[in-house]
Amino acid sequence: MAMFNWLAAWLGSTRDSRLAALNPPVAPDSHKNVHTFMTPEAYVIINPKPPVTSRFEQSPDFRSNGDVARKIDLMVLHCTEGSFLSAVAWLTAKDDTLVSAHYTVSKAGHVVQTVGINDVAYHAGGTKEKPSSWRGRGNINGRSIGVEIENKNDGLDPYTPMQLSVCLWLALRTCRQNNMTAEQVVGHEDVDPGRKTDPRNFPWPLFRTSLAVHLSRPGGIA
Ligand SMILES: [Zn+2]
Repeated sequence: MAMFNWLAAWLGSTRDSRLAALNPPVAPDSHKNVHTFMTPEAYVIINPKPPVTSRFEQSPDFRSNGDVARKIDLMVLHCTEGSFLSAVAWLTAKDDTLVSAHYTVSKAGHVVQTVGINDVAYHAGGTKEKPSSWRGRGNINGRSIGVEIENKNDGLDPYTPMQLSVCLWLALRTCRQNNMTAEQVVGHEDVDPGRKTDPRNFPWPLFRTSLAVHLSRPGGIA
């Protein structure tokens, strides 16, 4: 009987170890196991990184939502077209342009926040004749977070790895805080098609796949 048990255990462990070799156990935080639920061509993902530095500088152009928590179900990515510093200067200027965004992300990964997340920024309103919309619903500014990425939007200027990681970090945090999926992070061109082209040549498949993978993991950043 002892011999039989030993044999059964041995056979069992052999079979189990064969299965284990085919299906390595997936540790929730192990980056190298990400491929177990991804298609072969999407092996490469980017990882989120917090901003290198971040500061808050209030834009005069925003609509306060008071103490009522805003219902956020979109994040809209833009290109600054100019430099990071000129964009921040422009977004915080006391002029009559009435344009603002929540975050601006530099090529080196620095972030300046210019509108509080519970306040409405004016970044994707569209025109009076044709207000922006996404999947048939308008009020884009009212329900979104606007992110300006330092990029010329000429289709040639590259998005830097650090910039993508910081944008991913912002997107991941926004999605987690508002129960959003990777699909709900969109470009200005998606909510104002025909009029806007930013962020031109943004690596959407890489970004959304990375976001979805990180969202599927327990824990992580708040
Ligand atoms: Zn834009």
